[in-house]
Amino acid sequence: MPFEAKKFAVPGRRPLDTPTRGRYAEAQLASQVATSVGRRLVAEPTRTFETIAGAHNPVDVTTLVGNTPLLRLRNLGRECPAVEIYAKAEGFNPGGSVKDRAALNIIREAERAGLLSPDRVLVDSTSGNTGIAYAMICAARGYRLKLFMPSNVSVERKRILHAYGAEVVYTDPMEGSDGAIRQVREWASHHPEECFYANQYDNPANWQAHYLTTGPEIFAQTQGRVTHFVAGLGTSGTFTGTTRRLKELNPFIRCISVQPDSPFHGLEGLKHMPSAIPPGIYEPRLADENLTIPTEEAYAVTLRLAREEGMLMGVSSGAALAASLRVARKIGEGVIVTIFCDSGDKYLSERFWEREIDDHRLEVSG
Ligand code: PMP
Repeated sequence: MPFEAKKFAVPGRRPLDTPTRGRYAEAQLASQVATSVGRRLVAEPTRTFETIAGAHNPVDVTTLVGNTPLLRLRNLGRECPAVEIYAKAEGFNPGGSVKDRAALNIIREAERAGLLSPDRVLVDSTSGNTGIAYAMICAARGYRLKLFMPSNVSVERKRILHAYGAEVVYTDPMEGSDGAIRQVREWASHHPEECFYANQYDNPANWQAHYLTTGPEIFAQTQGRVTHFVAGLGTSGTFTGTTRRLKELNPFIRCISVQPDSPFHGLEGLKHMPSAIPPGIYEPRLADENLTIPTEEAYAVTLRLAREEGMLMGVSSGAALAASLRVARKIGEGVIVTIFCDSGDKYLSERFWEREIDDHRLEVSG
């Protein structure tokens, strides 16, 4: 029997939505529901791992990708009481980020097209999360992996990749993710027979992953009530695929893309599009609006997310929420859904966590 979040609901509270994936997520969801009801912890019915659906059915790790929980923001944004703000908690994916969806679809499509086999190495450039997703899936399926990644990504990302056994070529940190793109292109062009160049920036299977999963999940989890969708741009896969699907489901949903405000920024995973190599899958005209967020503002919101919502998220989530808060102030009423691309554990070596919350009560302009 599927785990039912509504059994944990208290009167006057909207029950959280039920993810349909594995027992780990369901246990996590149970604890989130308990958190969301605060001191009035509702513990009925008591559940153990043995009674949670799926506990007796062994699963492949890749079947845990997607169907992430939708979290309700209770405190940040409360100055706009008629706006509901939700976030897809993509850190619940088994590789720890939204990029599990894209990597899995890219690999599946390559398998279908006969482009990938155990004697061909999968190569791509990454700022970390796609690499981790590839590394997890390649390990599970017996593929070799070679990644090109700027050397200044967080130490946690490097350690995770090493743990999965991925081969990593570190590229010039001053050239950022574009330097990694240039190097992988060069390497792949010299080794065409040995590799499958996954090319997440130009591969339609990237955005299609979100068209097939993230978009419908958001629509279903809000019972079709979503009015605004806000997401950061890296490859643009998340924004592009989700936006295309949501607009098909309801053309009135406004979709807002989010970028760093300058070429030199601290928002790992996001790209400053005007100064970057444009991803082939990026279509600027798809966005109804584009917001730029300074690194400091994203850090501030990331810290407040941890301390005021109990949500330990990565800095691109802080940027996405900072943009959502701007949208909330502007619209005054609506249902905003954003994406928290990963959780905060890979960023704990960043210095901003050491600051006091008061340093972070920045004025956010509209
Ligand atoms: N946030 C983080 C932490 C990421 O790793 C990425 C992927 N680079 C993104 C946001 C952006 O996702 P996408 O590539 O789908 O645009």
